[in-house]
Amino acid sequence: MSLDISTLFLVATLICTLLGGMLFYFGRQENIPALNWWGAAYLLGAAALALWTLLGPSLGDLGALATLAVGFVACGVMWNAARVFHGLKPNWPGLLLGAVGWLIVVVSVPADQIALRTTVGAAIVAAYAVLTARQLSAERRKAVRRNWPTMLVPLLHGAVLMIPILLADLLPAPGAGLSNNIWVTLFAIELVLYAIGTVFAIFMLVSERTVRAHKAAAAMDPLTGLFNRRGFSEACARIIEREAEAGRPVSVLIFDIDHFKSINDRFGHPAGDEVLKLFATIVAHSLRISDLCGRIGGEEFAALLPCALDEAVTAADRVRETFQNCGIEVDDAPVATTVSIGVAGGPANIELDVLLAAADTALYQAKRGGRNRVVATAEEPLSLEHGRRKAALSNEPRSSVVVRNNPVGQAVA
Ligand code: GH3
Ligand code: MG
Ligand code: MG
Repeated sequence: MSLDISTLFLVATLICTLLGGMLFYFGRQENIPALNWWGAAYLLGAAALALWTLLGPSLGDLGALATLAVGFVACGVMWNAARVFHGLKPNWPGLLLGAVGWLIVVVSVPADQIALRTTVGAAIVAAYAVLTARQLSAERRKAVRRNWPTMLVPLLHGAVLMIPILLADLLPAPGAGLSNNIWVTLFAIELVLYAIGTVFAIFMLVSERTVRAHKAAAAMDPLTGLFNRRGFSEACARIIEREAEAGRPVSVLIFDIDHFKSINDRFGHPAGDEVLKLFATIVAHSLRISDLCGRIGGEEFAALLPCALDEAVTAADRVRETFQNCGIEVDDAPVATTVSIGVAGGPANIELDVLLAAADTALYQAKRGGRNRVVATAEEPLSLEHGRRKAALSNEPRSSVVVRNNPVGQAVA
Protein backbone atom coordinates (compact mmCIF):
# COMPACT_ATOMS: atom_id res chain seq x y z
CA MET A 1 0.00 0.00 0.00
CA SER A 2 1.41 3.38 -0.86
CA LEU A 3 0.32 6.46 1.00
CA ASP A 4 0.63 9.85 -0.61
CA ILE A 5 2.07 12.22 1.97
CA SER A 6 0.46 15.38 0.56
CA THR A 7 -2.94 13.71 0.57
CA LEU A 8 -2.42 12.56 4.16
CA PHE A 9 -1.50 16.07 5.23
CA LEU A 10 -4.47 17.50 3.35
CA VAL A 11 -6.78 15.05 5.17
CA ALA A 12 -5.17 16.00 8.49
CA THR A 13 -5.72 19.69 7.68
CA LEU A 14 -9.39 19.20 6.81
CA ILE A 15 -10.02 17.08 9.90
CA CYS A 16 -8.36 19.65 12.18
CA THR A 17 -10.41 22.46 10.58
CA LEU A 18 -13.65 20.55 11.01
CA LEU A 19 -12.89 19.56 14.59
CA GLY A 20 -11.77 23.11 15.41
CA GLY A 21 -15.04 24.52 14.02
CA MET A 22 -17.01 21.93 15.99
CA LEU A 23 -15.18 22.77 19.24
CA PHE A 24 -15.84 26.49 18.69
CA TYR A 25 -19.51 25.78 17.98
CA PHE A 26 -19.97 23.80 21.20
CA GLY A 27 -17.83 26.27 23.14
CA ARG A 28 -20.20 29.08 22.19
CA GLN A 29 -23.33 26.99 22.62
CA GLU A 30 -22.43 25.62 26.06
CA ASN A 31 -20.53 28.75 27.10
CA ILE A 32 -17.38 26.79 27.98
CA PRO A 33 -14.30 28.99 27.33
CA ALA A 34 -11.91 26.00 27.36
CA LEU A 35 -13.69 24.60 24.28
CA ASN A 36 -13.00 27.89 22.45
CA TRP A 37 -9.33 27.55 23.38
CA TRP A 38 -9.26 23.98 22.10
CA GLY A 39 -11.06 25.15 18.95
CA ALA A 40 -8.45 27.88 18.46
CA ALA A 41 -5.65 25.32 18.92
CA TYR A 42 -7.16 23.08 16.22
CA LEU A 43 -7.66 25.95 13.78
CA LEU A 44 -4.11 27.20 14.34
CA GLY A 45 -2.82 23.67 13.85
CA ALA A 46 -4.89 23.37 10.69
CA ALA A 47 -3.52 26.71 9.42
CA ALA A 48 0.05 25.54 10.02
CA LEU A 49 -0.67 22.24 8.27
CA ALA A 50 -2.35 23.97 5.33
CA LEU A 51 0.55 26.34 4.84
CA TRP A 52 2.96 23.42 5.06
CA THR A 53 1.01 21.18 2.68
CA LEU A 54 -0.15 23.64 0.06
CA LEU A 55 2.71 26.12 0.01
CA GLY A 56 5.50 23.94 1.42
CA PRO A 57 8.15 24.19 -1.29
CA SER A 58 7.31 27.76 -2.30
CA LEU A 59 7.55 29.02 1.28
CA GLY A 60 11.31 28.82 1.34
CA ASP A 61 13.36 27.79 4.32
CA LEU A 62 12.38 30.71 6.51
CA GLY A 63 8.67 30.44 5.66
CA ALA A 64 8.66 26.73 6.45
CA LEU A 65 10.32 27.36 9.80
CA ALA A 66 7.83 30.13 10.58
CA THR A 67 5.01 27.69 9.73
CA LEU A 68 6.41 25.31 12.31
CA ALA A 69 6.42 28.19 14.81
CA VAL A 70 2.64 28.57 14.21
CA GLY A 71 2.32 24.85 14.95
CA PHE A 72 4.17 25.31 18.24
CA VAL A 73 1.81 28.18 19.15
CA ALA A 74 -1.04 25.74 18.48
CA CYS A 75 0.57 23.30 20.95
CA GLY A 76 0.85 26.13 23.50
CA VAL A 77 -2.84 27.00 23.01
CA MET A 78 -3.72 23.32 23.48
CA TRP A 79 -1.91 23.26 26.82
CA ASN A 80 -3.57 26.54 27.88
CA ALA A 81 -6.99 25.14 26.95
CA ALA A 82 -6.38 22.42 29.57
CA ARG A 83 -5.38 25.16 32.06
CA VAL A 84 -8.52 27.19 31.34
CA PHE A 85 -10.60 24.02 31.67
CA HIS A 86 -9.27 23.65 35.22
CA GLY A 87 -10.05 27.27 36.09
CA LEU A 88 -6.48 28.57 35.74
CA LYS A 89 -5.51 31.73 33.89
CA PRO A 90 -3.85 31.31 30.47
CA ASN A 91 -0.08 31.31 30.71
CA TRP A 92 0.83 33.65 27.83
CA PRO A 93 4.66 33.55 28.19
CA GLY A 94 4.49 29.74 28.32
CA LEU A 95 2.15 29.71 25.35
CA LEU A 96 4.64 31.61 23.19
CA LEU A 97 7.84 30.18 24.65
CA GLY A 98 7.92 27.15 22.31
CA ALA A 99 7.56 29.24 19.15
CA VAL A 100 10.01 31.94 20.30
CA GLY A 101 12.53 29.31 21.47
CA TRP A 102 12.18 27.58 18.11
CA LEU A 103 12.88 30.78 16.16
CA ILE A 104 15.94 31.48 18.34
CA VAL A 105 17.25 27.96 17.72
CA VAL A 106 16.65 28.34 13.98
CA VAL A 107 18.58 31.61 13.89
CA SER A 108 21.47 30.27 15.96
CA VAL A 109 21.79 26.70 14.58
CA PRO A 110 23.28 26.41 11.07
CA ALA A 111 20.79 25.29 8.38
CA ASP A 112 22.67 22.03 7.66
CA GLN A 113 22.14 20.79 11.24
CA ILE A 114 18.79 19.26 10.29
CA ALA A 115 18.95 16.52 12.92
CA LEU A 116 19.49 19.03 15.70
CA ARG A 117 16.64 21.24 14.45
CA THR A 118 14.32 18.24 14.18
CA THR A 119 15.25 17.15 17.67
CA VAL A 120 14.52 20.58 19.12
CA GLY A 121 11.20 20.82 17.22
CA ALA A 122 10.05 17.38 18.39
CA ALA A 123 11.17 18.13 21.95
CA ILE A 124 9.06 21.31 22.00
CA VAL A 125 5.94 19.39 20.92
CA ALA A 126 6.71 16.62 23.41
CA ALA A 127 7.18 19.17 26.21
CA TYR A 128 3.77 20.73 25.48
CA ALA A 129 2.23 17.25 25.33
CA VAL A 130 3.63 16.41 28.77
CA LEU A 131 2.41 19.76 30.16
CA THR A 132 -1.07 19.12 28.73
CA ALA A 133 -1.21 15.57 30.10
CA ARG A 134 -0.01 16.80 33.51
CA GLN A 135 -2.66 19.51 33.54
CA LEU A 136 -5.39 17.05 32.65
CA SER A 137 -4.19 14.59 35.27
CA ALA A 138 -4.64 17.35 37.88
CA GLU A 139 -8.31 16.29 37.91
CA ARG A 140 -7.70 14.06 40.90
CA ARG A 141 -11.12 12.65 41.47
CA LYS A 142 -12.65 9.22 41.43
CA ALA A 143 -13.43 9.70 37.77
CA VAL A 144 -9.77 10.03 36.90
CA ARG A 145 -9.36 6.30 36.41
CA ARG A 146 -11.97 6.43 33.67
CA ASN A 147 -10.19 9.46 32.24
CA TRP A 148 -7.03 7.67 31.23
CA PRO A 149 -7.42 8.64 27.54
CA THR A 150 -7.17 12.33 28.49
CA MET A 151 -3.62 11.69 29.68
CA LEU A 152 -2.69 8.88 27.36
CA VAL A 153 -3.56 10.70 24.13
CA PRO A 154 -1.22 13.70 24.62
CA LEU A 155 1.49 11.45 26.09
CA LEU A 156 1.35 9.11 23.09
CA HIS A 157 1.46 12.13 20.83
CA GLY A 158 4.57 13.38 22.63
CA ALA A 159 6.14 9.93 22.47
CA VAL A 160 5.55 9.57 18.71
CA LEU A 161 6.99 13.01 18.23
CA MET A 162 10.16 11.82 19.96
CA ILE A 163 10.66 9.20 17.23
CA PRO A 164 12.76 11.51 15.04
CA ILE A 165 15.03 12.08 18.01
CA LEU A 166 15.57 8.35 18.29
CA LEU A 167 15.95 8.04 14.54
CA ALA A 168 18.48 10.82 14.50
CA ASP A 169 20.45 9.17 17.32
CA LEU A 170 20.10 5.53 16.33
CA LEU A 171 20.50 6.07 12.60
CA PRO A 172 23.09 8.83 12.31
CA ALA A 173 23.20 8.37 8.53
CA PRO A 174 19.68 7.52 7.41
CA GLY A 175 19.49 5.81 4.05
CA ALA A 176 18.66 8.34 1.36
CA GLY A 177 15.60 9.90 2.94
CA LEU A 178 13.77 6.58 3.31
CA SER A 179 13.47 6.76 7.09
CA ASN A 180 12.51 10.39 6.65
CA ASN A 181 9.64 9.39 4.37
CA ILE A 182 8.43 6.72 6.75
CA TRP A 183 8.66 9.19 9.57
CA VAL A 184 6.65 11.86 7.71
CA THR A 185 3.96 9.30 6.79
CA LEU A 186 3.85 8.05 10.37
CA PHE A 187 3.66 11.62 11.59
CA ALA A 188 0.71 12.44 9.30
CA ILE A 189 -1.20 9.33 10.41
CA GLU A 190 -0.41 10.00 14.04
CA LEU A 191 -1.57 13.59 13.63
CA VAL A 192 -5.00 12.48 12.39
CA LEU A 193 -5.34 9.94 15.22
CA TYR A 194 -4.17 12.49 17.74
CA ALA A 195 -6.63 15.12 16.51
CA ILE A 196 -9.58 12.73 16.70
CA GLY A 197 -8.44 11.08 19.94
CA THR A 198 -8.00 14.44 21.64
CA VAL A 199 -11.47 15.63 20.67
CA PHE A 200 -12.83 12.37 22.08
CA ALA A 201 -10.95 12.97 25.33
CA ILE A 202 -12.07 16.63 25.45
CA PHE A 203 -15.74 15.74 25.08
CA MET A 204 -15.37 13.01 27.69
CA LEU A 205 -14.00 15.54 30.16
CA VAL A 206 -16.60 18.18 29.32
CA SER A 207 -19.55 15.79 29.52
CA GLU A 208 -18.29 14.33 32.80
CA ARG A 209 -18.00 17.81 34.27
CA THR A 210 -21.48 18.77 33.03
CA VAL A 211 -23.01 15.65 34.56
CA ARG A 212 -21.19 16.37 37.82
CA ALA A 213 -22.45 19.99 37.82
CA HIS A 214 -26.05 18.87 37.19
CA LYS A 215 -25.82 16.27 39.95
CA ALA A 216 -24.43 18.84 42.37
CA ALA A 217 -27.17 21.34 41.42
CA ALA A 218 -29.86 18.68 41.98
CA ALA A 219 -28.52 18.07 45.49
CA MET A 220 -28.14 21.73 46.42
CA ASP A 221 -30.44 24.35 47.91
CA PRO A 222 -29.83 27.48 45.80
CA LEU A 223 -30.79 29.95 48.55
CA THR A 224 -28.43 28.79 51.29
CA GLY A 225 -25.86 26.76 49.35
CA LEU A 226 -26.45 23.81 51.70
CA PHE A 227 -27.62 20.37 50.63
CA ASN A 228 -31.35 20.13 49.91
CA ARG A 229 -33.37 17.24 51.34
CA ARG A 230 -32.32 14.88 48.55
CA GLY A 231 -28.63 15.81 48.72
CA PHE A 232 -28.71 15.58 52.50
CA SER A 233 -30.23 12.08 52.45
CA GLU A 234 -27.71 10.85 49.86
CA ALA A 235 -24.73 12.29 51.73
CA CYS A 236 -26.07 10.95 55.05
CA ALA A 237 -26.42 7.45 53.63
CA ARG A 238 -22.70 7.46 52.79
CA ILE A 239 -21.67 8.75 56.23
CA ILE A 240 -23.96 6.33 58.08
CA GLU A 241 -22.51 3.44 56.10
CA ARG A 242 -18.96 4.56 56.85
CA GLU A 243 -19.67 5.03 60.56
CA ALA A 244 -21.50 1.70 60.71
CA GLU A 245 -18.41 -0.05 59.38
CA ALA A 246 -16.38 1.54 62.15
CA GLY A 247 -19.08 0.70 64.71
CA ARG A 248 -19.50 4.36 65.71
CA PRO A 249 -22.81 6.04 66.67
CA VAL A 250 -24.43 8.87 64.72
CA SER A 251 -26.79 11.66 65.76
CA VAL A 252 -29.29 13.78 63.87
CA LEU A 253 -30.37 17.34 64.61
CA ILE A 254 -33.51 18.95 63.20
CA PHE A 255 -33.73 22.74 63.45
CA ASP A 256 -36.95 24.70 63.00
CA ILE A 257 -36.76 28.49 63.20
CA ASP A 258 -39.31 29.82 65.68
CA HIS A 259 -42.19 32.00 64.48
CA PHE A 260 -40.57 32.37 61.11
CA LYS A 261 -43.87 33.15 59.45
CA SER A 262 -44.14 36.29 61.53
CA ILE A 263 -40.67 37.41 60.34
CA ASN A 264 -41.95 37.07 56.78
CA ASP A 265 -45.19 38.83 57.63
CA ARG A 266 -43.53 41.76 59.39
CA PHE A 267 -40.46 42.32 57.25
CA GLY A 268 -41.27 40.69 53.93
CA HIS A 269 -40.16 37.53 52.15
CA PRO A 270 -36.72 38.88 51.06
CA ALA A 271 -35.87 39.69 54.69
CA GLY A 272 -37.05 36.17 55.61
CA ASP A 273 -34.66 34.81 52.98
CA GLU A 274 -31.78 36.75 54.54
CA VAL A 275 -32.59 35.21 57.93
CA LEU A 276 -32.57 31.74 56.33
CA LYS A 277 -29.16 32.44 54.75
CA LEU A 278 -27.80 33.71 58.04
CA PHE A 279 -29.07 30.65 59.87
CA ALA A 280 -27.49 28.37 57.28
CA THR A 281 -24.15 30.14 57.78
CA ILE A 282 -24.45 29.79 61.54
CA VAL A 283 -25.19 26.07 61.30
CA ALA A 284 -22.35 25.46 58.85
CA HIS A 285 -19.87 27.40 60.99
CA SER A 286 -20.98 25.96 64.32
CA LEU A 287 -20.55 22.35 63.24
CA ARG A 288 -17.42 20.42 62.47
CA ILE A 289 -16.10 19.83 58.98
CA SER A 290 -17.00 16.14 59.38
CA ASP A 291 -20.66 16.99 60.10
CA LEU A 292 -23.28 17.27 57.38
CA CYS A 293 -26.00 19.88 57.19
CA GLY A 294 -28.84 20.60 54.81
CA ARG A 295 -32.05 22.55 54.37
CA ILE A 296 -34.79 19.96 54.40
CA GLY A 297 -37.80 22.28 54.21
CA GLY A 298 -38.83 25.95 54.19
CA GLU A 299 -37.37 27.01 57.55
CA GLU A 300 -36.27 23.57 58.60
CA PHE A 301 -32.70 22.38 58.57
CA ALA A 302 -31.05 19.13 59.58
CA ALA A 303 -27.58 17.94 60.44
CA LEU A 304 -25.94 14.56 60.81
CA LEU A 305 -23.08 14.32 63.29
CA PRO A 306 -20.86 11.27 63.54
CA CYS A 307 -20.91 11.33 67.34
CA ALA A 308 -22.94 10.24 70.36
CA LEU A 309 -26.08 12.00 71.58
CA ASP A 310 -24.54 14.12 74.38
CA GLU A 311 -21.94 15.62 72.03
CA ALA A 312 -24.69 16.35 69.50
CA VAL A 313 -26.75 18.15 72.17
CA THR A 314 -23.77 20.39 72.96
CA ALA A 315 -23.39 21.22 69.25
CA ALA A 316 -27.13 21.91 68.96
CA ASP A 317 -27.05 24.29 71.90
CA ARG A 318 -24.11 26.11 70.34
CA VAL A 319 -26.18 26.74 67.20
CA ARG A 320 -29.22 27.80 69.25
CA GLU A 321 -27.20 30.30 71.29
CA THR A 322 -25.34 31.76 68.31
CA PHE A 323 -28.59 32.29 66.41
CA GLN A 324 -30.23 33.92 69.41
CA ASN A 325 -27.31 36.32 69.83
CA CYS A 326 -26.68 37.07 66.14
CA GLY A 327 -28.25 40.54 66.49
CA ILE A 328 -29.87 40.72 63.08
CA GLU A 329 -31.67 43.98 62.24
CA VAL A 330 -34.11 44.79 59.44
CA ASP A 331 -34.53 48.50 58.68
CA ASP A 332 -32.75 49.25 61.96
CA ALA A 333 -35.30 47.23 63.91
CA PRO A 334 -33.90 44.24 65.82
CA VAL A 335 -35.42 40.89 64.90
CA ALA A 336 -35.75 38.23 67.57
CA THR A 337 -34.29 35.04 66.14
CA THR A 338 -34.64 31.78 67.97
CA VAL A 339 -34.65 28.17 66.90
CA SER A 340 -36.00 24.94 68.36
CA ILE A 341 -33.91 21.83 67.90
CA GLY A 342 -34.73 18.14 68.17
CA VAL A 343 -31.82 15.73 68.60
CA ALA A 344 -31.77 11.97 68.24
CA GLY A 345 -28.86 9.60 68.54
CA GLY A 346 -28.60 6.03 67.52
CA PRO A 347 -26.22 3.10 67.45
CA ALA A 348 -24.10 2.29 64.41
CA ASN A 349 -26.07 1.00 61.44
CA ILE A 350 -29.28 2.86 62.26
CA GLU A 351 -31.48 4.04 59.37
CA LEU A 352 -31.59 7.76 58.64
CA ASP A 353 -35.40 7.80 58.52
CA VAL A 354 -35.57 6.36 62.03
CA LEU A 355 -33.24 9.03 63.35
CA LEU A 356 -35.10 11.81 61.53
CA ALA A 357 -38.44 10.60 62.88
CA ALA A 358 -37.08 10.48 66.43
CA ALA A 359 -35.48 13.93 66.07
CA ASP A 360 -38.77 15.26 64.69
CA THR A 361 -40.61 14.01 67.76
CA ALA A 362 -38.02 15.71 69.96
CA LEU A 363 -38.43 18.91 67.94
CA TYR A 364 -42.18 18.81 68.48
CA GLN A 365 -41.53 18.56 72.21
CA ALA A 366 -39.18 21.53 72.02
CA LYS A 367 -41.90 23.59 70.32
CA ARG A 368 -44.47 22.54 72.85
CA GLY A 369 -42.08 23.24 75.69
CA GLY A 370 -41.88 26.93 74.74
CA ARG A 371 -39.44 27.04 71.76
CA ASN A 372 -35.81 28.29 71.75
CA ARG A 373 -34.58 25.07 73.26
CA VAL A 374 -32.89 21.76 72.51
CA VAL A 375 -34.68 18.50 73.27
CA ALA A 376 -33.02 15.14 72.85
CA THR A 377 -34.76 11.78 72.53
CA ALA A 378 -34.66 10.02 75.85
CA GLU A 379 -34.82 6.53 74.43
CA GLU A 380 -32.81 5.07 71.64
CA PRO A 381 -34.81 4.98 68.43
CA LEU A 382 -35.93 1.59 67.20
CA SER A 383 -34.99 0.46 63.74
CA LEU A 384 -37.59 1.00 61.03
CA GLU A 385 -37.99 -2.72 60.50
CA HIS A 386 -38.48 -3.19 64.22
CA GLY A 387 -40.99 -0.32 64.27
CA ARG A 388 -42.93 -1.74 61.33
CA ARG A 389 -43.10 -5.18 62.91
CA LYS A 390 -44.27 -3.65 66.17
CA ALA A 391 -46.96 -1.66 64.34
CA ALA A 392 -48.11 -4.78 62.47
CA LEU A 393 -48.31 -6.80 65.68
CA SER A 394 -50.25 -4.12 67.53
CA ASN A 395 -52.63 -3.98 64.54
CA GLU A 396 -52.80 -0.20 64.77
CA PRO A 397 -54.97 1.29 62.02
CA ARG A 398 -52.85 3.09 59.41
CA SER A 399 -53.82 6.71 58.77
CA SER A 400 -55.14 7.12 55.26
CA VAL A 401 -55.23 10.24 53.11
CA VAL A 402 -58.21 10.68 50.82
CA VAL A 403 -58.70 13.47 48.29
CA ARG A 404 -62.44 13.84 47.77
CA ASN A 405 -62.34 16.53 45.06
CA ASN A 406 -59.22 15.45 43.25
CA PRO A 407 -58.74 17.90 40.34
CA VAL A 408 -57.16 15.21 38.14
CA GLY A 409 -60.03 12.85 38.84
CA GLN A 410 -57.94 10.00 40.25
CA ALA A 411 -58.59 8.46 43.61
CA VAL A 412 -55.71 8.92 45.99
CA ALA A 413 -55.67 6.86 49.12
P1 GH3 B 1 -43.05 27.65 64.55
O1 GH3 B 1 -42.36 28.42 65.60
O2 GH3 B 1 -44.16 26.84 65.08
O3 GH3 B 1 -42.11 26.83 63.74
O4 GH3 B 1 -43.74 28.71 63.61
P2 GH3 B 1 -43.30 29.15 62.16
O5 GH3 B 1 -43.98 30.42 61.81
O6 GH3 B 1 -41.84 29.13 62.03
O7 GH3 B 1 -43.83 27.92 61.28
P3 GH3 B 1 -44.82 27.87 60.08
O8 GH3 B 1 -44.73 26.46 59.58
O9 GH3 B 1 -46.18 28.36 60.47
O10 GH3 B 1 -44.26 28.86 59.02
C1 GH3 B 1 -43.14 28.58 58.24
C2 GH3 B 1 -43.00 29.72 57.26
O11 GH3 B 1 -41.80 29.61 56.48
C3 GH3 B 1 -44.14 29.78 56.28
C4 GH3 B 1 -43.47 29.99 54.93
O12 GH3 B 1 -44.04 31.06 54.22
C5 GH3 B 1 -42.06 30.31 55.29
N1 GH3 B 1 -41.11 29.90 54.26
C6 GH3 B 1 -40.96 28.66 53.73
N2 GH3 B 1 -39.97 28.69 52.81
C7 GH3 B 1 -39.50 29.95 52.73
C8 GH3 B 1 -38.49 30.61 51.97
O13 GH3 B 1 -37.77 29.99 51.13
N3 GH3 B 1 -38.27 31.91 52.17
C9 GH3 B 1 -39.00 32.61 53.08
N4 GH3 B 1 -38.74 33.90 53.24
N5 GH3 B 1 -39.98 32.04 53.80
C10 GH3 B 1 -40.23 30.72 53.66
MG1 MG C 1 -41.60 24.39 60.26
MG1 MG D 1 -40.74 27.35 62.30
